[in-house]
Amino acid sequence: MEQVLNYINGTLLPAVGGGWLDDHAPATGAVHAHIADSDERDVELAVQAATKALPAWKALGTQGRSDLIMRVADLMERDLEALAKAESIDNGKPIALARRMDIPRAISNFRFFAGAVLHWNSDAHLMDDVAINYTDRQPVGVAGCISPWNLPLYLFTWKIAPALAAGCCVVAKPSEITPYTAFLLSRLCIEAGLPPGVLNIVHGLGPKVGAAITAHPGVPAISFTGGTRTGAEIARVAAPMFKKLSLELGGKNPVVIFDDCDFEEMLTSVLRSSFTNQGQICLCSSRILVQRGIYERFKQAFVERVKAMRVGDPADPTTDLGAVVSEAHMTKVLGHIALAREEGGTVLCGGERVLLDGPLRNGWYIAPTVIEGLGPECRTNQDEIFGPVVTLQPFTDDAEALALANSTSYGLASVLWTSNVKRAHRMARDLHSGIVWVNCWLVRDLRTPFGGMKQSGVGREGGHEALRFFTEAKNVCIRL
Ligand code: NAD
Repeated sequence: MEQVLNYINGTLLPAVGGGWLDDHAPATGAVHAHIADSDERDVELAVQAATKALPAWKALGTQGRSDLIMRVADLMERDLEALAKAESIDNGKPIALARRMDIPRAISNFRFFAGAVLHWNSDAHLMDDVAINYTDRQPVGVAGCISPWNLPLYLFTWKIAPALAAGCCVVAKPSEITPYTAFLLSRLCIEAGLPPGVLNIVHGLGPKVGAAITAHPGVPAISFTGGTRTGAEIARVAAPMFKKLSLELGGKNPVVIFDDCDFEEMLTSVLRSSFTNQGQICLCSSRILVQRGIYERFKQAFVERVKAMRVGDPADPTTDLGAVVSEAHMTKVLGHIALAREEGGTVLCGGERVLLDGPLRNGWYIAPTVIEGLGPECRTNQDEIFGPVVTLQPFTDDAEALALANSTSYGLASVLWTSNVKRAHRMARDLHSGIVWVNCWLVRDLRTPFGGMKQSGVGREGGHEALRFFTEAKNVCIRL
């Protein structure tokens, strides 16, 4: 059985404690690899290696670092197919999605930040004849990067790439549920000649490895993407240590559909924003708000299209929805559907586990589910479900749409469908969310600020925001 080893000081190693965790393939439920079950001793080794590597990595300069990061990206591109297969097996996502989105985006993350750092400039503030101020930005030191299971390599590299480009050395932890492509990345880093200790990847459980990275005094910055509850725990530990924190957390995203939208374009997009990756993308829209004039038409057309979606083998390129990530997650999502029924919701389609045949019979599949008849206060419309489950709610006018859209404790991403430009601007301004897409979804420019408000997080990643996060600004004032 394949072993997912730690990558510490340039070497692939088992955990100090010698223990292993199971890595499951959601499509079949079977164990497909064993993961190093690390703890604070492995994190200590990783922090020591990163601290030791820091001066030489900084001294390499932006061009030298950029070249090495580009080299890793080139190797990822060479291995795109193998990485996509591994991601699909480890996560349960359709291979077509891993090929089209996850791995190309992971490669872009490396290339983007390797380029961005070369084009970055610092500020200067001139005080007439008095003085010149300039902003010096030095890497923050050893950065801790902790990522979730839904877009494993995509989100892992979204943190590591800017940290490395900015001159930090990194101690990173992928999700223990989907560690495999991070392990493959560590092999590529060795092949690319990344100096030992520059990137360290420690595998294992969140409360052991993630907590040890968060609490380590030698790690002054933590970039975390995951659940809101975990984010709160990380903030509780890190805040009194005055660490820099970037927290990208949960969501309960609305899509607001006005009756003046391009109906067909909207319909196709809302199917994607609801069910891509089995609804397990933090940016997926889980609350569909529809203006009354087109509510019935939308409902009928949407449910018809959802019923036609194929739940199946992630390895089959024609599959629309693969497996959800784990048995525990499947049970949680099915529990939310049961709760929706208890709350008085009507399940228009889906609503149950899908049992496939043959080797897939023990896999974790859920039918795409559409629920209506529930108001904004019920838990179904408040709690993050993070699966292939959406609700429909009608609204009358802009004010009601806005009130419904803003009625949760989250504020990550919203989508608007309208052909009225003034309304789009007004709504975009007043929505409580870090990202607003108008007449589109998941169009991503890596230069833009990315993140959420309210319980969806603190701070922004992306472009210069990420490079700023991984550096400390120092004002240097020179008297003229
Ligand atoms: P999670 O919070 O359970 O785990 C995320 C990571 O944190 C994992 O690597 C885990 O091992 C680690 N972890 C767990 N406990 C820890 C602790 N005490 N200290 C430090 N690290 C710890 O989240 P998940 O279930 O892997 O991912 C799903 C969640 O992620 C959803 O809520 C989703 O909305 C969110 N998410 C947010 C974004 C975003 O950009 N805002 C993107 C993707 C996913």
